Amino acid sequence: MSQEHRTKSGFETRAIHAGWEPDPSTGAVIPPIFATSTYKQDGVGGLRGGYEYSRSANPTRTALEDTIAALEEGERGFAFASGLAAEDTVLRGLLEPGDHVVLPNDAYGGTHRLFDKVAQRWGLAHTPAALSDLDAVRAAVTARTRMIWVETPTNPLLGIADIAALATLAHEVGALLVVDNTFATPYLQRPLTLGADVVVHSTTKYAGGHSDVVGGAVVVRGLDLADKVAYHQNAMGAVAGPFDSWLTLRGLKTLAVRMERHCDNAERVVEFLTADERVEHVYYPGLADHPGHEVAQGQMDRFGGMVSFRVRGGEERALQVCDRATVFTLAESLGGIESLIEHPGRMTHASVAGTELEVPADLVRLSVGIETADDLLADLDQALG
Ligand SMILES: *Cc1c(COP(=O)(O)O)cnc(C)c1O
Repeated sequence: MSQEHRTKSGFETRAIHAGWEPDPSTGAVIPPIFATSTYKQDGVGGLRGGYEYSRSANPTRTALEDTIAALEEGERGFAFASGLAAEDTVLRGLLEPGDHVVLPNDAYGGTHRLFDKVAQRWGLAHTPAALSDLDAVRAAVTARTRMIWVETPTNPLLGIADIAALATLAHEVGALLVVDNTFATPYLQRPLTLGADVVVHSTTKYAGGHSDVVGGAVVVRGLDLADKVAYHQNAMGAVAGPFDSWLTLRGLKTLAVRMERHCDNAERVVEFLTADERVEHVYYPGLADHPGHEVAQGQMDRFGGMVSFRVRGGEERALQVCDRATVFTLAESLGGIESLIEHPGRMTHASVAGTELEVPADLVRLSVGIETADDLLADLDQALG
């Protein structure tokens, strides 16, 4: 694909073509899994395709990295062994000991742990704040703040933060804005076009999309950030292997059609749950009464496949719904083709019990998959008892 097509063609075309030209030697339409650690040199230093050693670069990984960069409309993409490996490389690659980060007070648990238990020991301070409240973010900024980290929508309450406003604030105080775009995916939201500097992903979720691979990605705006992340990706070495890269790239090619169906099905589920008397409250940014609805409407194309709700009757009833569901599988994680159900209070968010981040005990979180919508509604109906 030419450079011009890479930037100007539609999302689906980029997803399918941006990362790979049919191989001149074999005609292979899809990039092979380049299971090689090293590359023959034509004379000392004579690299054929620019490849030298597979920690530094591997052609399957390059195909994935170019594709995700094209989808996020960034300068360069980087693929990692997991979402957390991607995050660690961003932290240590772009910050110095002594720097300060403003972190969402409801950040993904693993992100919070990385800052709190690992980065802090390395000398990186952080302050949690409600990222949906610009005044709260401003109040959390210190003279050493060099990064504002945001997730939108958040997990599990689907809170929304205003990416463009946070980018302006970050740049006013000399900080970078990093957006974890795992929930929305570039199909629904492109943070770099809204002013963010860095996008991170757990590609384990919607990007891979089939619950069969763990991976992470970083996409940056601008050459300076690209050089720093590239240097640290190689220096720290937490790279995606060729088979994982191949699976994730295969997932990305169908991201657009999957996300449309995730959104269609989530809308049906939301419509069903909001009309049901056994349900106390439904959290979905597409609902007009959601506090972040207007901002979400401005920065997202649709509202995604994640839905949370509170069950009337308390924790016991919420646990019952999780146990009774059969089409929805009781499991952690999200973003795959199959629908998942979980109880955040006892599962994904058990570690924040007793803190200000504790989630309601009657809360159920759904990752709405791409099965037949009527089957999903029938399953929820019987699970609600
Ligand atoms: C899963 C997840 C991560 C961590 O990614 P891993 O691939 O599990 O390391 C980070 N952020 C969000 C929003 C996630 O859902």
